[in-house]
Amino acid sequence: MQIGTAALEALVTDNNLSLQNPLDTDTADTRLLEVMKQHWGYESFRPLQREAMLSAMHSRDSLTVLPTGGGKSLCYQVPAVCRDGLAVVVSPLIALMKDQVDALTECGIPAACVNSSLTTEERQDVAARVRSGELKLLFAAPERLVQPRTIDFLRRDANVSFIAIDEAHCISNWGHDFRPEYRQLGALRDSFPDASLHAFTATATEKVRQDIVNQLSLKEAEVNVGNFDRPNLFYRVERRYDPLTQIREVIDRHPQESGVVYCISRANVESTAESLKQAGYSVLPYHAGLEPEQRKAHQEAFIDEQVDIIVATVAFGMGIDKSNVRYVVHAEMPRSIEGYQQESGRAGRDGLEAECCLFYSGRDVHTWEFLIEQSESEDNRQRSMAALKKMEAFCFSAVCRHRLLVNHFGQSLDHTDCGACDVCRQELETLPDALVISQKILSSVYRQGQCFGAEYTAQVLRGSKNKRVLGNRHDQLTTYGLLKDEPADVVRGWIDQLTAQGYLQRSGEHSVLVISPEGAEVLKGQTSPALTRPKHRAAKSSGGQANWEGVDRGLFEELRQFRMELSVERGVPPYVILGDVSLRELARVRPSTVNALTKIYGIGQQKKTEFGTSLVKKITAWARQHEVELDVTHQTTTTRAKSRASSGQSEKYFDLFEQGYSRQDVAVQLDRSLDTVANYLEQYIEAHRLTDAAQWVSAEIVDRIREAGEQVGFGRLKPIFEQLERSVGYDEIRIVLACERIARSEQPADQ
Ligand code: ADP
Ligand code: ZN
Repeated sequence: MQIGTAALEALVTDNNLSLQNPLDTDTADTRLLEVMKQHWGYESFRPLQREAMLSAMHSRDSLTVLPTGGGKSLCYQVPAVCRDGLAVVVSPLIALMKDQVDALTECGIPAACVNSSLTTEERQDVAARVRSGELKLLFAAPERLVQPRTIDFLRRDANVSFIAIDEAHCISNWGHDFRPEYRQLGALRDSFPDASLHAFTATATEKVRQDIVNQLSLKEAEVNVGNFDRPNLFYRVERRYDPLTQIREVIDRHPQESGVVYCISRANVESTAESLKQAGYSVLPYHAGLEPEQRKAHQEAFIDEQVDIIVATVAFGMGIDKSNVRYVVHAEMPRSIEGYQQESGRAGRDGLEAECCLFYSGRDVHTWEFLIEQSESEDNRQRSMAALKKMEAFCFSAVCRHRLLVNHFGQSLDHTDCGACDVCRQELETLPDALVISQKILSSVYRQGQCFGAEYTAQVLRGSKNKRVLGNRHDQLTTYGLLKDEPADVVRGWIDQLTAQGYLQRSGEHSVLVISPEGAEVLKGQTSPALTRPKHRAAKSSGGQANWEGVDRGLFEELRQFRMELSVERGVPPYVILGDVSLRELARVRPSTVNALTKIYGIGQQKKTEFGTSLVKKITAWARQHEVELDVTHQTTTTRAKSRASSGQSEKYFDLFEQGYSRQDVAVQLDRSLDTVANYLEQYIEAHRLTDAAQWVSAEIVDRIREAGEQVGFGRLKPIFEQLERSVGYDEIRIVLACERIARSEQPADQ
């Protein structure tokens, strides 16, 4: 296959590149990088993007598997711009298409979609743009693309360069999102014999991969499988003992940031959303039981950042490309690791730090077992039960979460300490006397005759005076009260851990505990389980690799506000205007000229032209008013690269705070800006749940900030800043608000 002649000419005229070999990989490489820089403002390829893009440049069929946020869209968008003709993209959802078309348009690339939501006029307009050869990308739903009318039209009036199939796992009924209409795509190969096919998915299992290749009849496909680890995500898995408090703790670590809370049932979605709302959070529910109109409105409010939190069933997420979701909470256990990976993977698509918290209980396993029994065919049931078992084991294990996840997808982690999970950050305490404790528990199960459940067993071990325990005369057992000094939820946790590790089994409809052969070995002291206990109020990280170093938070807020205004004005989501990475970099580097914007991540030619001048105005005005430096030497923000290095940073700060140093002293000692210090101080306040800012901010200022907060609300910094007529710094406001949040969260939710 050849690159079209016009594209070749463009290469020659654009770059004066010599074209002895038109398929010369170096030439294609250079061109791809140039286009990426020009339109997107990105400097380099992410892993496997180069390989995937070259397949499309060279018209070789391919299958590319990258995790969510890995940058799949660019793999077909960039070659589409480089190549002559029209690239057709198959996408399952209207929302997904619309989002991509908006984003491309903002980058100055002609793109459109055809789907059932268009009016006849709009459709005709798209057809005219296809005919004129102006469009570079056309998005279509599978069922529309395979219609004879569409195929004829495209064959006759367009020069189709290649076809990309997004979310390609939908073609496989081995996947979790099977869509029958995807099956019809098998016909594409024959309908467009000259166009190469490129499939993209985030689903990594080998079966699904094979199925995609077969169903699409890919020819000698190049298969690119990416690394499934997401180092920017911090995973934390905890037993659920007080759901609302636990959820609020996560939310409070992310004031004014976007987050998703997943629940299993609609009822739980409703009640959780309601409780959070009562407690003063900006939140909306989302589930399949809502009217379609309302569901859409709630989703849009979240995407457009009119609301911070969405509480949802798994119905929410597919079609959400929002890149700056900073946390995902699972209020209950998901049904499979695949599901967990996908849902939690919606956090931190922009590569910035984000937090994934999962709160489980043994009860969730029953709920799922019940639902699977009720709703699935014999065939699927076994598969679902096996997946559920794996999920359960994941929750109860004490092994690095990143490692378990990548292992599940057949990959390995090349370092021992991920630095970004509760296990590696030692938020959990592994018990040195796990064997003895396990023996106490197992022997109680044995002495109780192996016909009682987990809750009851915990009561016996804790020496409960419960009627049932006394009635069964289990206060006479030698194991009665053996663990009386341990809190109930900790003992319950250990029993669940033993079950998940296979030493105990749940049996019958009452889920009574039975000792397995492995459990018998524990009783004999031949093998020892691993047990953990959550550390009391461990300092909790709010994400993977934090990347606020050097960012002027006040300016960041200012720019965020500006982004919101642009978003409303142009009718596209804020993250389509500029991602959070770009905002942070702008607030860190503070470019003083439009030209200097070229160096900023994510700002290409089009965006520079459209709002470069206003951005620079905002930045220079800010710098003047706050006497901060402009054009700070450019530091790389590729968060992935500096990932793990910064995890020890906070300790230095925390030590100095602990010793009572003032903010100014800490700034001098560590040679950092006051803003950066405030940043760590905020984390410190959250970690130690401090409610009094007096040590850091003068009493008078604290009072003024509080007063302003009473008037304009405590939710956002900017209104308070304005209310105080810009006389108090953002860093001080942030510190006081952090304490305020803790103080409020210590009050019961229903007050
Ligand atoms: P996926 O479709 O694989 O989930 P996206 O294509 O949405 O991922 O990309 C995630 C984010 O990363 C987007 O904001 C995208 O613009 C950005 N991105 C993609 N490729 C690059 C790159 N080479 N350099 C910098 N950012 C990139
Ligand atoms: Zn880890």
